[in-house]
Amino acid sequence: MKKIIIANWKMNPSSEKEAVSLAKAINKKGIVICPPFVFLSSVSKNLKAGSSKLKATLGAQDISPESQGSFTGEISPSMLKNLGVKYAIIGHSERRMLGEINYLINRKIKTALKSGITPIVCVGEPHRDPQMKYLGFMKRQITETFKGLSPKDFKKIIIAYEPVWAIGKSAEREATPEESQEMAIFIKKVLSDHFGRGSVKNLKILYGGSVNEKNAKEFLTCGGVQGLLVGRVSLDQKKFNEIIKNS
Ligand code: PEP
Repeated sequence: MKKIIIANWKMNPSSEKEAVSLAKAINKKGIVICPPFVFLSSVSKNLKAGSSKLKATLGAQDISPESQGSFTGEISPSMLKNLGVKYAIIGHSERRMLGEINYLINRKIKTALKSGITPIVCVGEPHRDPQMKYLGFMKRQITETFKGLSPKDFKKIIIAYEPVWAIGKSAEREATPEESQEMAIFIKKVLSDHFGRGSVKNLKILYGGSVNEKNAKEFLTCGGVQGLLVGRVSLDQKKFNEIIKNS
């Protein structure tokens, strides 16, 4: 199975010029570049122009739960599709921290599926505890997030396991590839029990959380995942290209 590497730029960089230049530097097959909404159009146009050609695929960092209409501030699936966007990150922990709940994330997944955009759905526990109560948290998050979906729907969904305690500058520590592997198995078990065995057939699970050029290869070989979701390091073209080279 081909590995997939997602570049989640979050609220970076600060100018269109920097965004286009970074996109050109990491424009490789198997990469999904997720710039802020405001840069999607110029990144898309510039990657298609001239000799560079669009090799990477474009993703959005979020999507509206609504298809169109009076929803101030929202970006619809068809607007994204018109810009050549094929993927949308949904339910990132940084959005959950702003108040997004499983019910809203579930609606966004359904809207994305209806419009032919592949959802990259983030799940992950905020903390780990010795009593392993975090497994109960994960079970509930997964069953609520994917409520009402059929095994067929899961063929068009990518799941990113992102332990919140391992993400970003304030990460408690890096997760280990073994922890990633255990959770990939756990996620598949929960999905299989609740949505049928067909839901996990060919399902792609990615790992995300402090991935860098040093640990990426080990997550890909021993982490039980088919790809990576990279935050901070996706803004560093040298380090990110090393991840691509080793994947
Ligand atoms: C993320 O934002 O999904 C992420 C994994 O961030 P970082 O790689 O910076 O920890």
